[in-house]
Order: sequence, then structure tokens, then C-alpha cells
Amino acid sequence: MNERPRVFAEIDLDAVRENVRALRARAPRAELMAVVKADAYGHGAVPCARAAREAGASWLGTATPDEALALRAAGVDGRIMCWLWTPGGPWREAVEADIDVSVSGMWALDEVREAARAAGRPARVHLKADTGLGRNGCQPADWAELVQAAVAAQAEGTVTVTGLWSHFACADEPGHPSIRLQLDAFRDMVAYAEKEGVEPEVRHIANSPATLTVPDSHFDLVRTGLAVYGVSPAPELGTPAQLGLRPAMTLKATVALVKTVPAGHGVSYGHHYTTAAETALALIPAGYADGIPRHASGRAPVLVGGQVRTAAGRVAMDQFVVDLGPGEHRVRAGDEAVLFGTGEHGEPTAEDWAQAADTIAYEIVTRIGGRVPRVYRNG
Ligand SMILES: *Cc1c(COP(=O)(O)O)cnc(C)c1O
Repeated sequence: MNERPRVFAEIDLDAVRENVRALRARAPRAELMAVVKADAYGHGAVPCARAAREAGASWLGTATPDEALALRAAGVDGRIMCWLWTPGGPWREAVEADIDVSVSGMWALDEVREAARAAGRPARVHLKADTGLGRNGCQPADWAELVQAAVAAQAEGTVTVTGLWSHFACADEPGHPSIRLQLDAFRDMVAYAEKEGVEPEVRHIANSPATLTVPDSHFDLVRTGLAVYGVSPAPELGTPAQLGLRPAMTLKATVALVKTVPAGHGVSYGHHYTTAAETALALIPAGYADGIPRHASGRAPVLVGGQVRTAAGRVAMDQFVVDLGPGEHRVRAGDEAVLFGTGEHGEPTAEDWAQAADTIAYEIVTRIGGRVPRVYRNG
């Protein structure tokens, strides 16, 4: 393939490695879990998992069991944990594939014990505490029952409790009072479990923003996702460069058409943009089917012809338009357009796109769709 693809995401695996090393240096006493759920936040789970391992990520984390099993099927070894379970499993497959699982309630513990019996080996279980997020995890009022049942399951040989863990609600808002309250609740719930005889290998609560800003949240293991890909969890925390991170994904497209249109010409669906004068329009062949947020219509930034331009009118399913302005310009069909990247060459960043689409940078990289080929650098 010597022509430039319509649209593609370049993934710099050296950036993934450097980010993992930088994060390990931020949490020197803890092990690091690279979270590779959702296809490594759109970057490609298997290549990113391998790069993270090479840089010292002793754990990998996924949301779903299917994501964890897919890593094993691709030959990724070492510790893998997954946490988002629904009744029915696949618990047995996870136990047989040596995957650490999360249990937030009695129904899950019952199913995991049964699966361990069927598999003929104990399941490695992390008990999840809801220390205030109010999402998954076991409420403090139900913790004693869950811990005691897990200790009993350990005695019968179906379960090894390898982890005690929780997740923050507001770690991306430095100084938010819930951070301290959740840490206190976590310490209490860990202390109770340890008093009941649980000897966890790892206690863990920190995501990327907590790893970067709350050192006493590191415990034995930090679970970093977004920061591994070099993206800032929140503008308040700083730019990737300020955090010592480098964005791994650069999203590029190939200009499909450049044409001159008269003044007063409507552009794209709904005619939300009208040309002010005779001008040149460039067609960027990427749209919401590729994960370009339609909500960024009229605001999305893109580097074309050495200048950052803004989407003129609606982002459509497969394409959007930028107005190059009147007069001479050097943009031609076949030229490169950079939607976002490191920012080092004047291109917008995922954080810029998040702002343009009223969302968070997590969503910008993760939503880049299956129609967009990934091109790996430094594999
Ligand atoms: C996604 C996720 C993480 C990683 O969060 P980042 O903010 O991307 O670092 C950690 N833990 C859990 C439970 C998650 O769901």
C-alpha cells in the first residue's frame, strides 16, 4: 500500500513505553497495571499490552472478561485482571486462562466458586469495595458478609483473594473532598478484611489522575489507563507535556477534494455554515462513523496546509469540510490533514478536540472507530 489511506491512526508504541516508565517513576513503590480496556482506549489492545509489558507493566487490566480472554488468546502472558462481570460469566474460561477476576457482591462470589470447582483450581479474586463512587463495588454495610464468604471460600479451596480494591469518583478534580473520604473508607475496608484473615497481594485504588496527583493512593498497584496513552485526564491537571507524557495516537486523513465556491454558498447538512466570500473548501474524508464527534460541528480543529482550520458546518457520517479562505493557498487533494496528535508540530491535540466537542479526552481517543486502520510505529 503506497497511497495514503483515507484516514488512519498512527500509534507510537515508543510513546506507550515511555509513558509507562514515566508513570512507574511517579509511583515508585507500587506495581503498575496498564489498563487496556476498550481496545486500549482505541489504540489497539494487543500491541499496546505488549509495549506496556516491555516497559515494566506487571499487570494488565480490562473491563470485560472477553477483552481479557482475547489478550490470552493472542499469547499475552502474566497477570491480567478484569472487573466488569454480569451473571453467567464466562467465569470458568477466565479461571482456566489464569485471569484475576473482580467480585463486588454475593452473586458473583457464588458463581466464581462454582466455576472454580468445575475448573478444578482456585479462582484469583479481587474484592471490590464501593468507597464512595456509587457505581460497582460492595457497600460498606455489605462488606462483612462478602469478606467472610470469601474467607470461607478460600478455606474450601475455591478462591484465593489476591486483591482488595476500589475506584475514585473525583480523582480528576485535585483537592476534591471525596478523595480523602474515599481513601479513609478504603483503609477501613482493607483493615477489616485483613483482620478477617485476607492477605491480599495487592491493594489498589489509583487511576491515572490519582497516580499523578495523590501519592498516598498508590498502595501496592496503580491502575493507569489514559495516561499510558499520553493523554491528560483533565485540563486542570496540565497538558501531557506538563505531566511528563507523550500522546501515542496521531489521527490523520487525506484531503479528498479542494474546490472554489462562490460567496454565500451553504456548506454541509443543514447549511449551518455559509461562505463569506469566494473561497476554497477542502474535504476531509472522516466523519462520525469513524468516531469524529458530530457534536464538534463548526468547532473541530484540523491542521491542513500548515494552519489549524475549523470544521465548516456539520460533521457528517463520513466527511466534513474546512474553509481554506479566499486567495492563494497550497492545499491539494492528497495532502495530509492532521486531526489530532502530540501538538509538537502545530496540530491540535485530543484535549483540543474534547473541548470542541464538550467532552473529555478519554472519549475522543476511545471512540475512534473500527473503520480507521491503526498504523504502528516502533513496534
Ligand atoms: C478505566 C478504569 C481505570 C483506568 O482509568 P484512567 O483514568 O484511564 O487511568 C482504572 N480502574 C478502573 C476500575 C477503570 O474502570
